[in-house]
Amino acid sequence: MENCIFCKIASKEIPGKIVYEDEICLAFLDLSQTTNGHTLVIPKAHFKNILEVDDKTLIHLMSVTKRLANMIVTNLNAKGVNILTNANEAAGQTVMHFHIHIIPRYNQNDQIE
Ligand code: 5GP
Ligand code: ZN
Repeated sequence: MENCIFCKIASKEIPGKIVYEDEICLAFLDLSQTTNGHTLVIPKAHFKNILEVDDKTLIHLMSVTKRLANMIVTNLNAKGVNILTNANEAAGQTVMHFHIHIIPRYNQNDQIE
């Protein structure tokens, strides 16, 4: 997909801080680092969002997300984690390539956007 920033990260055309990779997906640190360790999991193939991705890819991504979330919580000593995905602009999606946010939580009262 032309001009898709996450396709470019997936193809290594632009750099990303990659924390996990296999033949179907890639996980890398979110630029914003909403909290320390904020990670995005994406399919290498371009899908707009969860409403459009095929089930096989989705199941794989969710399985990887679960594994990475456990690793992040353990390694960064987080107390919990938010796992979320935005679909379409009205719901706050800003990058139109499907991605799952893993946001480690350290303090219950911290506000995240
Ligand atoms: P959305 O709002 O679409 O759910 O989330 C998009 C996320 O992508 C945001 O959290 C934003 O910080 C992140 N992001 C946008 N551009 C880049 C980039 O070039 N590199 C990385 N690593 N993250 C990005
Ligand atoms: Zn893309």
